[in-house]
Amino acid sequence: MEGGVSLRQSMLRYGPTARCGDGSISHAGGCMGEQIASDARIYVAGHRGLVGSGIVRCLRRVGFTNLLTATRQELDLRDQAAVNAWFETRRPEYVFLVAGTVGGILPNSTRPAEFLYDNLMIHGTVVHAAHRTHVRKLLYLGSSCIYPRACPQPMKEEHLLAGPLEPTNEAYALAKISGIKLCTSYLRQYGDNFISAMPTNLYGPNDNFDPRDAHVLPALIRRSHDAKLAGARSIVIWGTGTPRREFMHVDDLADACLFLMRHYESEEHINVGTGIDLTIRELAELVRDVVAPGIKLVFDPSKPDGMPRKLLDVNRLTALGWTAKIGLEEGLRSTYKWFADQYEAAIDARHAGPAVG
Ligand code: NDP
Repeated sequence: MEGGVSLRQSMLRYGPTARCGDGSISHAGGCMGEQIASDARIYVAGHRGLVGSGIVRCLRRVGFTNLLTATRQELDLRDQAAVNAWFETRRPEYVFLVAGTVGGILPNSTRPAEFLYDNLMIHGTVVHAAHRTHVRKLLYLGSSCIYPRACPQPMKEEHLLAGPLEPTNEAYALAKISGIKLCTSYLRQYGDNFISAMPTNLYGPNDNFDPRDAHVLPALIRRSHDAKLAGARSIVIWGTGTPRREFMHVDDLADACLFLMRHYESEEHINVGTGIDLTIRELAELVRDVVAPGIKLVFDPSKPDGMPRKLLDVNRLTALGWTAKIGLEEGLRSTYKWFADQYEAAIDARHAGPAVG
């Protein structure tokens, strides 16, 4: 481990068998790793969000029985004193740090102060409280936007900080990079077993479908659905349609997070993606064909495109033995079914209040 101290090996337990992220059992030589007891206290920070709810579903499915959660109203993760007190009382053993202020190009570029402040604070308070209360292992979730705008493609872990960031989400990316460095620093200085994973663009149940601040894929689903209901003949899509992006179903991401919690120990962050990308035009056509066949797609090149290409190099994760399983069309169909079933509730329940108090 470069320039670091060894992990708290005394706090880690290894054995001849281990359950893989998908719940299967693998033997020595296979997916050896941290054996997490089924009644271990596991805190999912951000459990009502897209990612957090996916991790909760995954943990329950695999058989974990002692999940700890708190809503934003119950615990503001920007408040260090409150977070310290919560950790001291609940004493989580494992933490999935997947809370944050999140959004697409528009909120990222118009609310940079919120994106920087909220995320810096949330990462700082949770990591520090986890250190104070001797959490056995913490997984912090960053984002693929940490990589430079002109990053060689596909983006490898070592490309971090190799060049200037994409201006439209610079504040968010800086907060996410700080989160990685926080985990690395607590590991180096204190030996805390805190790891970082960088997922690609995600989608699935409990995503934000609000057209004002949604990411591209849920925004396309929502706008195509609304156009279908309104009997519209076309929808307008921001940008040229030429940027290439990668998308992963949140159930795959949750499975990968559990896999990494069990099998990854390093101060280096690790990419989590499918390794497959497509253009925004191809994505829009796929969504249109699933949601509202026949509707015309009109691209507005006066609106920003963001980075020309964003594809993660997932060789490090693949070498550990994990790959994504849910294809984009299959994931889109199930996500649209979930969305259509819960249309009204999904809109009303999301982001009830402003993010900065
Ligand atoms: P969501 O907006 O769906 O969920 C965010 C969660 O964070 C919510 O549960 C929310 O709580 C919680 N939260 C936000 N602010 C606070 C706060 N001040 N105090 C307590 N809880 C708070 O986000 P996602 O699930 O999409 O994203 C989760 C993580 O995954 C983020 O770190 C994001 O950067 C990362 N990520 C997401 C990607 C994506 O495509 N969505 C891609 C790459 C990374 P509540 O429900 O109570 O409001």
